[in-house]
Amino acid sequence: MEYSITEKLIRKSKADIEASDSITIVMHHNPDGDALGASLGMYLLLKKLGKKVQVIAPSPYPDFLSWMKGHGDVIIGSRDKAQTLKALQNTELLILLDFNVLNRTDWMEPEIRKLSCRSLLIDHHPNPGNFADTIISSTEPSSTSELVYQFIHKSGWSEMLDKDMGECLYAGIMTDTGGFSHNSSRPETFETVASLLKAGIDKDKVFARVYNNYSFDRMRFLGHALKEKMQHLPDYNTAFIVLTKEEQDAYNFKAGDTEGFVNHPLSIQDTVFSAFFLEKEDYVKISFRSIGDFPANEFSARHFNGGGHVNAAGGESHLSIHETVKKFVQELPSYVDKLKNNETD
Ligand code: 5GP
Ligand code: MN
Repeated sequence: MEYSITEKLIRKSKADIEASDSITIVMHHNPDGDALGASLGMYLLLKKLGKKVQVIAPSPYPDFLSWMKGHGDVIIGSRDKAQTLKALQNTELLILLDFNVLNRTDWMEPEIRKLSCRSLLIDHHPNPGNFADTIISSTEPSSTSELVYQFIHKSGWSEMLDKDMGECLYAGIMTDTGGFSHNSSRPETFETVASLLKAGIDKDKVFARVYNNYSFDRMRFLGHALKEKMQHLPDYNTAFIVLTKEEQDAYNFKAGDTEGFVNHPLSIQDTVFSAFFLEKEDYVKISFRSIGDFPANEFSARHFNGGGHVNAAGGESHLSIHETVKKFVQELPSYVDKLKNNETD
């Protein structure tokens, strides 16, 4: 199996798209800017190509993304299972975006496994699983949205690219790089952005819609998290934040409200590892961020059933929130050398 963006893979994917009248796009659950941006960028392209297209998010996406063109057409799987299953059953081609393991589609995993239609995965996470016929995967691009742009370009469809499509893809690139603060040092990323600007995107508008979009409650919740709930462990160059269900209720938590909270502790001098624990109904959602060499994805995979990128990973725990945090703190001493001698240059 080839894992790259070879001409052959582009030709095969393009032929699959051209041979399919009905296409279904599936992103990962708890969609982020890249998952939704890549999916809607692809959706708008395929619609322009005259395809019958459905986009499925296994669970809701945050409000700060609900400006992208076509977002209202996204089927939220957890709210509308019947429509989701119908879309899956009637599709000729399944396009899977922004994940490397099928359980990132959450409850949809067994449903997707049952399908026998053609499938195409486009993703930028390491070690993609072998769950699609065609896999366009590389860890070099900043984001799946950048890969989707490359796919469009290499397929000879650049002239189809318009402002709406471009703004979806730009949102994905911008959010997956934390506003170009990490994972964006390849010239190709900026060449992609230059092409999107030429297609007419308003990058400042995209930035404001995504980042300057806090509800008053959300901003106060961030204040609470930083002032009352952040713990700093200088011996391990680590800081973390824990937010319980009760606290979420007190600040009228809505999906996506804590997006980005995990990044703040990294602004503390010498901090190279940050963790964020969010108590959910029946599990704890964890986010990890690191600076330099410290592999957040390996840490997450080993201890919290997760994965992701070297500097941005996530996982989950089925222990209580208290036990989860205790376990996290207990694991740190075995990483002390890596945390203290981290190469950040
Ligand atoms: P976030 O902290 O923003 O939810 O996720 C950061 C990165 O980690 C993303 O690239 C995402 O794909 C990955 N990630 C988040 N949660 C999980 C998880 O539960 N399992 C795996 N394998 N990856 C995750
Ligand atoms: Mn991504």
